[in-house]
Amino acid sequence: MSDKPKLRIGLIGTGFMGKTHVFGFATAAKVFDLPFEVELHTVADVTESAARKAAEAWGFAHATADWRQMVADPAIDLVDITAPNALHKDMALAAIRAGKHVYCEKPLAPLAADAQEMALAAEAAGVRTQVGFNYLCNPMLHLAHDMIAAGELGEIRAYRGVHAEDYMADATGPFTFRHDPAGGGALADIGSHALATAEFLLGPITRVMGDCVTVIDSRPGSDGQPRAVEVDDIGRAFLRFANGASGSIEANWIATGRKMQHDFEVYGSKGALVFSQERFNELHFYATTDAAGRRGFRRIEAAPDHAPYGAFCVAPGHQLGFNDLKAIEVAGYLAAIAGKRAEPFGFRAGLRIQTLIETIQNSARAGSWLAVP
Ligand code: NAD
Repeated sequence: MSDKPKLRIGLIGTGFMGKTHVFGFATAAKVFDLPFEVELHTVADVTESAARKAAEAWGFAHATADWRQMVADPAIDLVDITAPNALHKDMALAAIRAGKHVYCEKPLAPLAADAQEMALAAEAAGVRTQVGFNYLCNPMLHLAHDMIAAGELGEIRAYRGVHAEDYMADATGPFTFRHDPAGGGALADIGSHALATAEFLLGPITRVMGDCVTVIDSRPGSDGQPRAVEVDDIGRAFLRFANGASGSIEANWIATGRKMQHDFEVYGSKGALVFSQERFNELHFYATTDAAGRRGFRRIEAAPDHAPYGAFCVAPGHQLGFNDLKAIEVAGYLAAIAGKRAEPFGFRAGLRIQTLIETIQNSARAGSWLAVP
């Protein structure tokens, strides 16, 4: 039996991310020496039957259709929110008021003002928070970050980032929470990831020039009748970074054929990096210092040299998967709860991404460059 303190999880939402979070907790407990014994205590969804089904499949002891009751339960230590965006704020604030740690999916809240309220509340209560920016947990992104920081690319001149998928490409697809005028749209949904990666690699973005385009302006509502769509299907921004580099990001959820293009390119005076999430166990590096006639992008494969890859597998090139990134996210977050490190990506970091999104949206409306507050 474990002598570690227990950390009892209350999960809200049993959809795509609910399952990914359960994988994250389960895998993290096997792969890492976590500071807690994680207990899947209660799972909540809209209906009792959905919650019970998930509880049975995933190993939660309890199921409920009332997330408020679960959040108030003194047995729960950590509330994990994988419900639609518009619910994040109420759920997180209730959990913070009850003194729980809060793990919340991105985007943190529909508006930056909401995200700020959440960040301030968490800081005042002294609870630990985490926002689900799992792509930042990829060891190859950390390698890219470290190579840039160590000057291996020289002076950084330019950045190109994109997050493109095609899950909204079908114009007959229904109106979902992702189309909610408050906080919906491709820029918020997946551009949030592109912005998080851009700042993770190059540091603060200082100015933006946005362009947000609605291509499919009507979708079937829940009653089958056409419902107007106001949010962007494609959100783009030109960027200026504090380090002097310029760049761009694109968020596109109607990119026919693209399944997971969370990609970036970084160009420096001495070298360049190219990365594609569709092959996320690889980083491509070009060095001007290679001998003439031998220059070209070399493919660096993920290996135990790239922590924490080695905790998953002793052999290089055998590859991590999407759910493994969630396990790395969970391990970092639990270490922060135990006081062993700073929050890897807490609510304040989530607020920063929300601020960037809103500044790009405001810039697109104004048709002019805006400084990021
Ligand atoms: P989903 O529709 O698959 O799941 C949402 C779940 O929340 C469903 O089970 C739904 O029934 C439940 N829910 C809705 N209202 C509820 C309520 N009032 N009480 C309890 N449960 C409720 O959606 P998803 O794709 O899992 O997205 C959920 C969140 O995860 C969103 O914020 C989204 O942006 C984020 N997300 C993050 C990533 C990532 O890579 N980090 C990927 C996909 C989604």
